[in-house]
Amino acid sequence: MDKKTIKDIEVAGKTVLVRVDFNVPRNKETGEITNDNRIVAALPTLKYLLEQKPKAIVLFSHLGKVKTEEDKAKNDLAVVAPRLSELLGVDVKFVNCTKGPELEEAVKAADNGQVILVQNTRYEKGESKNDPELGAYWASLGDVFVEDAFGSVHRAHASTAGIPAHLPSAAGFLVEKEIAYIGKAVSDPERPMVAILGGAKVSDKILVIENLLKIADKVIVGGGMSYTFAAAQGHTVGTSLLEEDRIPVAKELIEKAGDKLILPVDAVINNGFSEEGDIKLCEGDIPDGYMGLDIGPKSIENIKNALDGAKTVIWNGPMGVFEMETFAKGTIEVCKALAALDDANTIIGGGDSAAAVMQLGFADKVSHISTGGGASLEYMEGKVLPGIAAIDDK
Ligand code: AMP
Repeated sequence: MDKKTIKDIEVAGKTVLVRVDFNVPRNKETGEITNDNRIVAALPTLKYLLEQKPKAIVLFSHLGKVKTEEDKAKNDLAVVAPRLSELLGVDVKFVNCTKGPELEEAVKAADNGQVILVQNTRYEKGESKNDPELGAYWASLGDVFVEDAFGSVHRAHASTAGIPAHLPSAAGFLVEKEIAYIGKAVSDPERPMVAILGGAKVSDKILVIENLLKIADKVIVGGGMSYTFAAAQGHTVGTSLLEEDRIPVAKELIEKAGDKLILPVDAVINNGFSEEGDIKLCEGDIPDGYMGLDIGPKSIENIKNALDGAKTVIWNGPMGVFEMETFAKGTIEVCKALAALDDANTIIGGGDSAAAVMQLGFADKVSHISTGGGASLEYMEGKVLPGIAAIDDK
């Protein structure tokens, strides 16, 4: 990587500001953390920093979406402090504000590597607008900045891009690892390289498909978004997910890609979005009143053949409604095909494909599961990620 990492900077005796991604899922009723993967993912960086004997470590993170006062109560970052303290094995001081004397005093008084967690960065309106004053203010609290919130590096916010504009900055281990895996797969892949894209919406992934068609040897499309491609091929798709306004671009991609693009040839369909009903297999046109909810056995076979011998695989988006067991087969079979690959670099984009791989028990059978759905997608689109661009070059 051409960006500095925490191994390249001096942090002993300094106040280190770290942007982490503690945007953890919580139980809607109790507010309890339901999955602490994101906190766990930050530990290598935080442990390393503690070993370097800094004066203090000040952590910034957003949690959820904050638009109203009610949202603030729902997305109080205090819930993270005890879990972080438990996992890190040190006391974590939570500061219940994002600006002002209480925060400034806490940072000034901190010593011996005291870990401070600042309240949700999105409590500040200027965060999402990358308000330069807010970035400068937060930067004034510390000596160096470490970017370790991979899930947020595609956003130019005050805490991701504003702070490093004022301080020496470096990537943490999580960002370094994500860039190493995804960067290598996208810019210097071992071949054959296969990309698999699924999920609900074509519109979310059109740019990724376009970019990956330039890079990959094969691009497999499945999931709800494949019905827009089926419509572009002239098929009827019943009540399946369809983005009519994307049919022309799907047509264009089919023409441009030739046999590089592998589309489903059959589907598991039902006459309702449910595990009950008239579930059957269908090839070609989907009849009126039926929707495709998973790819069928012939499509699975085609995908397995396309993956045979692959050395690099990037996967983003499930092949069907994997949350329902009846329609999880396509996604499970892709998991199995990836697990069976010898010696391949298999990378799972974040979001639902990461959830699927974990839920279906294949987490330790792939090379890398990204912690950032949006960030990994934008990286695969070939975009510059503002939170990465802001880190000092080596
Ligand atoms: P995305 O966030 O775009 O990756 O979409 C993930 C969601 O797509 C999951 O919740 C899946 O249940 C859903 N999905 C995948 N295939 C289908 C389908 N054929 N019909 C409806 N939803 C689907």
